[in-house]
Amino acid sequence: LNRRLAEFGTTIFAEMSALAVRTGSLNLGQGFPDADGPEEVREAAVRALRDGRGNQYPPGPGIPELRAAVAAHQERFYGHLGLSYDPETEVLVTAGATEAIAASLLALLEPGDEVIALEPYYDSYAACIAMAGGRRVPVTLRPHAESGSYRLDLDELRDAITENTRLILLNTPHNPTGTVLTHEELSAIARLAVERDLLVVTDEVYEHLVFEGGHLPLASFPGMRERTVTISSAGKTFSFTGWKVGWITAPAELVAAVRSAKQFLTYVSAGPFQYAVAEALALPDSYFTGLRDDLRTKRDVLAAGLADAGFQVFRPTGTYFITTDIRPLGETDGFAFCRALPERAGVVAIPNAVFYDHKDEGAPFVRFAFCKSIEVLQEAAGRLKALA
Ligand code: PMP
Ligand code: GLN
Repeated sequence: LNRRLAEFGTTIFAEMSALAVRTGSLNLGQGFPDADGPEEVREAAVRALRDGRGNQYPPGPGIPELRAAVAAHQERFYGHLGLSYDPETEVLVTAGATEAIAASLLALLEPGDEVIALEPYYDSYAACIAMAGGRRVPVTLRPHAESGSYRLDLDELRDAITENTRLILLNTPHNPTGTVLTHEELSAIARLAVERDLLVVTDEVYEHLVFEGGHLPLASFPGMRERTVTISSAGKTFSFTGWKVGWITAPAELVAAVRSAKQFLTYVSAGPFQYAVAEALALPDSYFTGLRDDLRTKRDVLAAGLADAGFQVFRPTGTYFITTDIRPLGETDGFAFCRALPERAGVVAIPNAVFYDHKDEGAPFVRFAFCKSIEVLQEAAGRLKALA
């Protein structure tokens, strides 16, 4: 393994899911729903397979039906914010958000370019920045005990920008903290990006999982559309994480750049699933609000259970993750805690320290996923309470 990748080892999600299987534990670690997405969308995939649509290489940018559906989705949900995209030139289908992140960074970075990423960051960001020869510059989101949430220090962000900064890699709603950046925070980021002429790659895969207020795409802020690559994924919005269908929306020039990288990574993404996701994106508004309402209820169940079990809970306003502080339980090392948890309680969780460069900042924090049935969440909470 080369030096660029050696530091990354095995992704924590694979390690922790394997631990869950080996110990028969409830898996609140890796974020995947325990119920599949809509029946009619599965049927659409079966129909596409059976009718021979997409069984041979689909077009590189994605099938026209899916690109049109992505553009229509952007218009439906964000058109009132002035955001719309041309399905011919401004949409690219990718193999999940993961490939969108990789292809964007490989296409847009020169070796040595600095990339600002909010810490804790999703684990593939660091690896992809490294593969692209970039340098990551983390800006730490810090928990505020009073508000019970994580916030971005805008001065720190400003200070992190140098003349070598090429892009900001943003994520809102934010995994693992469940933070949704506010209008003020996003405005400030946008102003900085414009002032310093930076590109922004914004990972908005949890766009439909915002529990209070609505999602604000960074691309809708003044001066941002022309410099922003926005990423989303059917894995999160339709609960098909195994299908690996994602997409970007961006101005034509940036889409063309990302496509140049994508064509040599996967060339294309799985055909029949693209037809099904095109139908999914056209589901009525009630599907999207139903998903959000269901997960809001689940958040409330798990947040109450974790608080009852003695964790300090940072109540998420988005995503399907809850970050907790384990210090009230007399614990300080999230890694050790998560490695022992299957044995002690039959539950698997993720140590947030893996998402930090400043490991000590992340040490006492542990993430639990709540995209599981209410029964599983209640059972997990009960087991964790018995820890005390
Ligand atoms: N970005 C974030 C913030 C995520 O949480 C995830 C996955 N859970 C991804 C990207 C990857 O998405 P996909 O499964 O579509 O590749
Ligand atoms: N995004 C999911 C999470 O944060 C996991 C995705 C993966 O396993 N790569 O849990």
